[in-house]
Amino acid sequence: METMSTQPNCSKVPLQLLLFIDKRPSSGDKNRQIQEHLEQLRQIHDFDLQVIDVGEQPHLAEHFKLVATPTLVKIYPEPRQTLAGSNLIAQVETWWPRWQQSLEDSVGLDGDQPAPPLQSLNQYSEVLKLTDEIFRLRQEMEELQAQLQFKERLIAMLAHDLRNPLTAVSIALETLEMGLDPQQQERYVRMTPEMMSQLLRHARTQSKAIDRMITDILQAARTTSSQLQIQPQKLNLGELCLEILDRLSNQSESKMQHLKVDIPSDLPLVFADPDRVRQVIINLLDNAIKYTPTGGTIEVSALHRTTQKVQVSVCDTGPGIPAENRERIFEDRFRLERDEATEGYGIGLALCQRIVKAHYGQIWVDSELGRGSCFHFTLPVFRI
Ligand code: ADP
Repeated sequence: METMSTQPNCSKVPLQLLLFIDKRPSSGDKNRQIQEHLEQLRQIHDFDLQVIDVGEQPHLAEHFKLVATPTLVKIYPEPRQTLAGSNLIAQVETWWPRWQQSLEDSVGLDGDQPAPPLQSLNQYSEVLKLTDEIFRLRQEMEELQAQLQFKERLIAMLAHDLRNPLTAVSIALETLEMGLDPQQQERYVRMTPEMMSQLLRHARTQSKAIDRMITDILQAARTTSSQLQIQPQKLNLGELCLEILDRLSNQSESKMQHLKVDIPSDLPLVFADPDRVRQVIINLLDNAIKYTPTGGTIEVSALHRTTQKVQVSVCDTGPGIPAENRERIFEDRFRLERDEATEGYGIGLALCQRIVKAHYGQIWVDSELGRGSCFHFTLPVFRI
């Protein structure tokens, strides 16, 4: 910001002007003309002029609601007045005598003058920057609060779901106990070795489910705010999948691919960010269409995998993914050498993984080389 003021040599506060310019070469002539004109006016009446490059002080340009450059803003005496347009010099000519008059009028009978609105534009600019910063921090705080709420809700949901397998394990153990007690055996039907091993298997499966859920809870608790920000809500995944398939059908038709859908009508709602989940499904479908040859088949299916999770799968009959790269394809910028000639940046799957993880879900690929790939991801079920 350049300041072109000469401090007034009398106690009277001079006219205060801001001239907003931009530094594009095409604006050079217009800027010079108005500045030369103002210099001529200075010969008659002194004034305070600050020249502001809008590129350097965009928040000031926004605050004064500028729509063009150069723009001249009179900030003192009040009221503030903004002049802009191709006839800027003519407008200044018209207003100059009136501004001088209002300056005279602002001096009271006792010779006192009200304080100018801005002593220092730098101070003002600082205040605006701080206001922006406060706004940004407030937004960040709201986002973090929403994240925290999501996390708490998810942990409560997972903890609640632990009850089912726990009850199943304890019933299996109690039944086994009764079967081994000779007194009870007389009262009830004798327990066969097959029944016992079935109960043991059942208890083992359920305890593995408990272990998986505890891993999920720990993962949810560990998640940091550096993760992708999401705004989860009640979401109908089936409807979303159908809408996306409809949007991408042209792409697959042009390759004469068959699109299949298998989404049960009683699929539960999920608790997820609709825009982010849309990104995941579009990326997976885009890839399936891109990497599957003409005439291939692509299928989108969903299933209620556990009480707490819904799984979506996008399967294709493309070239498949070599076993050694099935984890690496989710890394940022990783592409199979084989596909280097196909357009892409290798970031789609990395983003999918970040989004799914932010929902405390999992994403992975099953594949058979030369036969196709199935990308699966899970999302939490919505609970009232
Ligand atoms: P991009 O497709 O832009 O390269 P992605 O991150 O979406 O980036 O995918 C990473 C790599 O994984 C791709 O370059 C490709 O080699 C492989 N890939 C992804 N989807 C499929 C698929 N459906 N079939 C075969 N290979 C795939």
